[in-house]
Amino acid sequence: MQCPKCKHKLVSEARFCHHCGLELPPDTAVRTSEWYYEPVFVLLTIFLVLAIFGLPLLWKSPRFSPTQKVLVSLATVIYTGIIIWLIYYLVAVIFLPYYNQMKNLL
Ligand SMILES: [Zn+2]
Repeated sequence: MQCPKCKHKLVSEARFCHHCGLELPPDTAVRTSEWYYEPVFVLLTIFLVLAIFGLPLLWKSPRFSPTQKVLVSLATVIYTGIIIWLIYYLVAVIFLPYYNQMKNLL
């Protein structure tokens, strides 16, 4: 199978040309894509499990357009930053003062 626009060779399950980004008509895409490339699974994996480590799955998936990959990647970087900040906040602002108080009592 090749892209109707740029004639780049495509994998059979592609929904977008990974060369020029053209969205392919649904009937040309054979639905044989691996289950873990399903958009719902990729997004759940990123936001519930792996955060920034889920990005390779997103970029390998033929089910996202190049624009969607960039947008989801940006959201993931921001999301991961928020999680790191929350962990820092929990440890430095909430846990450490208690820990120091406990240490002074002993
Ligand atoms: Zn193309």
